[in-house]
Amino acid sequence: MFCPKCRSEYRIGFTRCSDCGATLVDELPPEPVRASGDDPGLVRLRSYSNDTEAFVARSVLEAAGIDAIVSPPRQPVGLPHYFGRGLTGTDVYVRSDDFIEANEILQRVDQS
Ligand SMILES: [Zn+2]
Repeated sequence: MFCPKCRSEYRIGFTRCSDCGATLVDELPPEPVRASGDDPGLVRLRSYSNDTEAFVARSVLEAAGIDAIVSPPRQPVGLPHYFGRGLTGTDVYVRSDDFIEANEILQRVDQS
């Protein structure tokens, strides 16, 4: 038996948590999904055709307090030349929470 609030484990026979009074359950619900660094819910904000623009965008976002990640430049290894340079773009990612704000910031930059 487990307390769903404080996640204490109890022997069978107990029905209430002695700490918080919650009704015990047979199985704990899954841990709340909390990204542990690997995947903070990144979304692609923009794609740039060259690294410089992408890094400028990142510095603008970071100046506004938004963490941004510039993806490693895609290596056009093995791609036929006729695909052109469009495929070698550099992506800028932000946390999904920051996406709307980041997008507005970059729009202001684009218009200036
Ligand atoms: Zn408890």
